[in-house]
Amino acid sequence: MSVLYADVIVDISHEQLDRPFQYRVPEGLQEKLKPGMRVQIPFGAGDRLIQGYCIGLSEISKFDPAKTKDIQGVYVADSDSEGRSIALAVWMREQYGSTMIQALKTVLPPRKAVKKLEKRVILRRLGREELFSMLGESKRKKQVARARLLEALLDQESIPYEWVTGKLNVSGQTIQSLERAGALSVQSSSGYRNPVRAFRLEEEAKLLSKEQQGILSDFFADYDGEVRKTYLLHGITGSGKTEVYIRLVRGVVERGRQVIVLIPEIALTYQTLLRFYQCFGDRVSVMNSTLSAGEKYDQCERAKKGEIDVIIGPRSALFTPFPNLGLIVIDEEHESSYKSETSPKYHARETAEYLAGLCGASLVLGSATPSIEAYYRAEHGQYGLWRLTERLTGGTLPDVEIVDLRQELKEGNRSIFSRRLQELMADRLQKGQQIILFLNRRGYAGFVSCRSCGYVMKCPHCDVSLSEHKGGRMLCHYCGYMTEKPGVCPECGSKYILGFKAGTQQIEDKLKEMYPSVRTLRMDRDTTKTKDSYETILSSFANGEADVLIGTQMIVKGHDFPNVTLVGVLAADLSLGMGDFRAEERTFQLLTQAVGRAGRGLQPGNAVIQTYQPDNYAVLRAKEQDYEGFYQEEILFRELGGYPPVSNLLAVQIFSATEKSGEELAEQLAEYLRRERTAQDYILLGPSAASISRINDVYRHVLYIKSEDYSILVEIKDLLENRAETLNLRNENIQFDFNPLNVI
Ligand code: ADP
Ligand code: ZN
Ligand code: ZN
Repeated sequence: MSVLYADVIVDISHEQLDRPFQYRVPEGLQEKLKPGMRVQIPFGAGDRLIQGYCIGLSEISKFDPAKTKDIQGVYVADSDSEGRSIALAVWMREQYGSTMIQALKTVLPPRKAVKKLEKRVILRRLGREELFSMLGESKRKKQVARARLLEALLDQESIPYEWVTGKLNVSGQTIQSLERAGALSVQSSSGYRNPVRAFRLEEEAKLLSKEQQGILSDFFADYDGEVRKTYLLHGITGSGKTEVYIRLVRGVVERGRQVIVLIPEIALTYQTLLRFYQCFGDRVSVMNSTLSAGEKYDQCERAKKGEIDVIIGPRSALFTPFPNLGLIVIDEEHESSYKSETSPKYHARETAEYLAGLCGASLVLGSATPSIEAYYRAEHGQYGLWRLTERLTGGTLPDVEIVDLRQELKEGNRSIFSRRLQELMADRLQKGQQIILFLNRRGYAGFVSCRSCGYVMKCPHCDVSLSEHKGGRMLCHYCGYMTEKPGVCPECGSKYILGFKAGTQQIEDKLKEMYPSVRTLRMDRDTTKTKDSYETILSSFANGEADVLIGTQMIVKGHDFPNVTLVGVLAADLSLGMGDFRAEERTFQLLTQAVGRAGRGLQPGNAVIQTYQPDNYAVLRAKEQDYEGFYQEEILFRELGGYPPVSNLLAVQIFSATEKSGEELAEQLAEYLRRERTAQDYILLGPSAASISRINDVYRHVLYIKSEDYSILVEIKDLLENRAETLNLRNENIQFDFNPLNVI
């Protein structure tokens, strides 16, 4: 039998994490030991027996074999949360490609020493009746911020100070004036209690709709019959998904187990959190990016000790070390923020599925526009599928029109606003109703189309659009196909074949030119740099402090604006020109969400989608709000092109200090792969320069590998990783991205 060595980390709450120690695995234990297991080892000069975790096995000795000590014992069938986290890291490392240390750092709780933090909280000082009368007075006087704070105090007896100034957008002065009036007091709270204590409202038992009830019965019949699986909940906005999550969570908590709820950070609004607080009080905790490492550590400790039942947070909340995890919920599962952009480039959906398997938990995914991946699996019976089809909030879907921008040009209108949109804008401004203008700016760089006929240049090999690069060349980001940019449109001969150049700033300027007294708010990367500016802009708009909100994809999420009766999408096609096989999916999602922003209140709404490609199926299906129809067309395209989820795609990304060395390395890896692996079970595309070929003086190249079988891609990743190790790269770095969401 060959000698087997194990890499062991000694104490995961220590800096030693970065340094695994190698031990020999005695013969009797070789069969039993798997990465992730807890082991007993002799440590230090005195060979004191301590515990460690095995993070990997190999047949190669890294140290003097004569000096390598033996593992003393293995804890079999041991399922502490640390061992589970390590097993998860081992899996992630394998599935997504990264170093073991990167994977461990992703899954293990922060190891920061806890520093007691002084935090300010706002406490309610008056009874509800008095608060009500103050609220009435503030509303009469149109003191909107003051009213907002009073309303919040009616719901909760204590609120963290920074929530009030941040999420609620209430100034320090307003707080002081209410403190002088005796309505509240500001105090500092030390210690690590939950930041919010909500009133436990007397269970005003909402009668569930038939559809909601059906879902709950289905889930708990499975759950109590020990069936664990993944379910996809497809339901339009306002159809009661959050209500379903809350009931599922409560049922699982009542069965003595814990729950992780993932919500994209941008959707972690005050309203949503409050609903969970009202149901779970002190037993729920929220994780977000504004928490310090010490606070995160504290939350993990509380989870481990069983002091909380539910955690809500973005992607990283998945790694909360609960002792007996019973359910994971992922809301807005189609969101791209669920995929990590750093190694390991894991997707929370798949990782949650694996974690649920390790813990004997179930997984619930929810969305109004499910990812093609999730819907495909549901269609193939891999996931259970639930539907919520009625809107419980009232309000009607808006009347949606598509405006053909080619026609506008033909008839002499060169403005960024079509005549129909101008007409509706004038009407709404005159009525004092609000407008949202949405600029679809994704993939803005390099997108070229014909203004006269809508023609878009596509790669003859990949069927995705080409992007303009320096010197007027058109490039495919998957396979590297290149061609000259034509001077006139090959389709209709027009000379208006160009990139789209309007940003939110220009739109605002144009609007002010047309309506000098219009009050506007702008939301894009530039105006949301500081913490909380996102919430601040949204709540100002909700308060009626502006007539028009102009923004990029950020504005399609979050708050409800009942006074918005018009949504204008300025150029729907921009996200179609991303040179990316997911372009239609993203466009459909964005347009569906954008259009759904109009008519949430009592007045009916309109939406206008301006586009150069009025016949594109993503645009047409979004107009109809027809997810199923969109899916059917999209999956055909994925099948024809061999794209995920029908097939799998691995991006090998090469970062280099010089263009030449990156290009050479990419070539070298491609050649190596072709030579070492001649089987016909994969397709190699490229190498190609990345879509943004240089960022901060780092050059980027990419190879794409397609295979129906994910495990073949994992083998290829291992092969290339080993190759790269022997090359001793200094100025180049290789990263792997499985089924990438973005072309780099
Ligand atoms: P989604 O998460 O799908 O957008 P929500 O769960 O937030 O939907 O529900 C939308 C609105 O409908 C909320 O105001 C919620 O309180 C209300 N609601 C949900 N379920 C019911 C129900 N069974 N009866 C009455 N109102 C409901
Ligand atoms: Zn043309
Ligand atoms: Zn191509």
